[in-house]
Formats: sequence, structure tokens, C-alpha cells
Amino acid sequence: MSTTSELTRLREFLNELIPSEDQLVRLYQNFCAQIRKGLGSKTNKDASTKCYLTYVQDFPTGNETGKYLALDLGGSKFRVLLIHLKGDSEAEQITKIYDLTERELHSTGVELFDYIAKCLHEFVCEQKVDNEHMPLGFTFSFPCVQTGLSRATLVRWTKGFNCSDTVGEDIGLMLKAAIARRPGLRIDMVAILNDTTGTQMSCAHRNPSCHIGLIVGTGCNACYTEKVENCERLDSKYKDKPKIIINVEWGAFGEKGGVDHLFTDYDRNVDQNSINRGSQIFEKMVSGMYMGELVRLILLRAVNENLVFAQCKLRKHITDILTKKPHCIETKVLSDIANDRGDDWPLVKDVFKQVFNLNNADPDDCMKFKFICDVVVKRSGNMIGVTLSGLVNKVGESFSVIGVDGTVYRCHPNFDGYMRETLDRFVDKDYKYDMMLSEDGSGRGAALVAAVVHRDYMERKS
Ligand code: BGC
Ligand code: MG
Repeated sequence: MSTTSELTRLREFLNELIPSEDQLVRLYQNFCAQIRKGLGSKTNKDASTKCYLTYVQDFPTGNETGKYLALDLGGSKFRVLLIHLKGDSEAEQITKIYDLTERELHSTGVELFDYIAKCLHEFVCEQKVDNEHMPLGFTFSFPCVQTGLSRATLVRWTKGFNCSDTVGEDIGLMLKAAIARRPGLRIDMVAILNDTTGTQMSCAHRNPSCHIGLIVGTGCNACYTEKVENCERLDSKYKDKPKIIINVEWGAFGEKGGVDHLFTDYDRNVDQNSINRGSQIFEKMVSGMYMGELVRLILLRAVNENLVFAQCKLRKHITDILTKKPHCIETKVLSDIANDRGDDWPLVKDVFKQVFNLNNADPDDCMKFKFICDVVVKRSGNMIGVTLSGLVNKVGESFSVIGVDGTVYRCHPNFDGYMRETLDRFVDKDYKYDMMLSEDGSGRGAALVAAVVHRDYMERKS
């Protein structure tokens, strides 16, 4: 059995990953300052959170009907969907998942879009809707400057995507060109949207109080509804409608120093080993693509300092694996073991077996590993709760529903609770909030944006 002093040592060792109240207050202030900068036309260039205009200004009523296609690119999977909106906030959908291999992630943009068009073509033929000429919404979950609903210029790739000749290009035109290169494929791409926007729209379809969309998955980001008078960068011709969704792109928060006071050597290491050094700093501290890696780095140092596996016969071997195999601990593990109540540590032992080929791990080492994982996840949930609070307070409605999606949020049993811990501290007492799991935001949200565009178009015509 480990002594209390051993556990105290581990706790001290992990202390820099446990934000204090003061540090969270600073995080809140820094974040709110970045949002103000992002919205201002003169200050936007210096902001880390660019607060992109989405041009989504119409919200679902629940009465939307019709059949739509959707593409979802930017998470762990590429998907094509056929969505049938049936009114009464109901929808049916058929989804097909297509592989995204390293080849697609690192090809040229033209090759990537040719692949997407090929999948789309196969899908509409399989579903026998290839002659229906349906409107398509494209969920493209990367930072883009939009100049309208269907025009989006890619600012940068994130999350391990790195296709050449795409940054600076109009993603809508690239998709249209790829569709045009396929004889027999006729599709009308009517909107490009971020997954956060899709998530907000899909929840607003059920509950009109949904003013915020959040993704905690491979990447992390949020969007929210802003009053047009607060959007200095919005052309006056869009100001006849009262509101617009802003894609915050808070993954980039920290690039101007906003999270320095929470940044550890582990975070620095993750950033240094990434393909986008110096970018997406907040995202690298909180999202699914990186949390497993943080655990690996923390565990490695803890083993070296004799805090974990100190008595283990495989200690040397474990150190070797942790040193030589980046990503050997997947973020999924953090969710999987969270349910291990510690009777015999079956879930943690399973991970030790898989990653280190270790049998009969010491229960104390199991407990310590779970503790490390928990510290990383809790830091993420607490930090996201703080930035979310900034948005809830910015929206300023008496009640705001936060639509949420993403593998981390879905799979980790405590994530919702960790976010609420700080939300409860930082949301103004005049405002109430709740969280709502999105039912496939990326797909249904894309169909809804396509549907409201269509509705708007029909109304303008009549
Ligand atoms: C992207 C965002 C996206 C988020 C979640 C980030 O890397 O920059 O556009 O919303 O991931 O998918
Ligand atoms: Mg997704």
C-alpha cells in the first residue's frame, strides 16, 4: 500500500495542472478581452479568437420540412448524410461513414475534394436519390473567413489535417469544382458551416433558447448568437436581421498569451511535437486529439520521479514505451477508465495490459494512473466551463441552452460535471444555463441551415 506521503507527493507533482481560483478568474478575464477584440473591426487582427461571421441569421422553428444532403468533414470521421426533416422538430436520417486515412489528410486539396465528391456520388446512387437534385449543407469544421453562407475561405488546417493548396482557397468553390468533375453528379451546395453552428442549430430545432454551440471532440470550439449591432465587421446590408451566429474559434485562444499562466511543460511539449506549432493553444490543452498525449508525458515524468510504478518489475520497459511511443495512450482511455471504481481496477488493468503488456498491476499504480487521467480531464472541463461562462454572460439572456457535441463530452462520464463546476462559479447570477446533447449536430444542423436558407429564399421571392 502506498503511504499517504507518496500520494501527497503525487498530488504536489500534479499541482500545476490543477488551476486555482485566481488562475481561473484570469482565464475568464483574458478570454472575455479576446472576444471583445475579435468582434471589433480595428482590434480583430490582434485577437486570438477571430469571432468569424457565419452569416447564419435565421433560426429553426421546428417546422422545417424536406430532404437534404449533408457532408461532415473535420472530426474523427468523414460522413455523408441524407436527412429528412419532417416538421414538429422531427427528423430521420441515413448516415454513411467513410474512411479518412493519412493519405487523404495529407494529400492536395483537389485530391481531398475529389475523394469527397466520389463518396458523395456513391452515396446518392446507393440511396437512389441521384436524380433528385437536393440542397446540400457542408459542415466543414475548420477556421474559415466567410463572405456569405456558401463562401468560405480556409484560414488554416487544424486537428492533424494538412492538405496542400487549400489554405486561402474558397472551400465552396473547391467542392463545387470536384462535383462538376464527376459526370452525372448534380448537387446544389447551399451552405458551408462549422460543426459548432450545426450543433447550435440542431439544438435550437428542439429548443429555441439554444444560444450557444459547443464541440469537445478531436478539436474544441464554440459559437454563439450575437446581436448585429455588436458586430462591427458585419456589412450593414446584413443588419436588417437582429442576430447572427459568431464562430468564436476559441481553439486558437492562447496564441496571444491568454493561457500562459496555466501552460505547463507538458503543454509545451505537446505543442512542440504537433504539426501546427504555436497554433491552437487552448485546443491543445483541452481537446480529444491531445489529452491522451498529455497523460503520456505526465506519466513518463511521474515514473522517472519514482511516483508511479516505483516497485514495478517492468518499470524500465514502461519508461521505454512511454518515451518511444508518442500517442501510445489514446484519449479514449481517459473516458474508458473513468468508470473504474477501484475494486480490482479491471478497466485500468486492461489499459496497462494493452499499452505496456503489464499483468497484475499494483492497485496503487492503478489508482495513481486514474488520478492523473482525471486531473487532465478535469482541467479541460473546468477551463471550458470558464470560457463558456464568458459566452453565456455575453449572450445575456435570462436562460441559455448550450448545445454540445463531440466524443470527449459524449464519452467521458464526468465531463459535463467538470464544466458545470466552473459554469456555476462564473455565470452571472441573473442568468441560468443548461446543457443539451446535440443529436448529431453536424448532420442535422447542416440540413437545418440548408432548410432555413431555402425558407428565406422562398420568402424573399414571394
Ligand atoms: C476547428 C473548429 C472546430 C473544432 C471542433 C477546431 O480545430 O478549428 O473550426 O469547430 O475544431 O471540431
Ligand atoms: Mg464532428
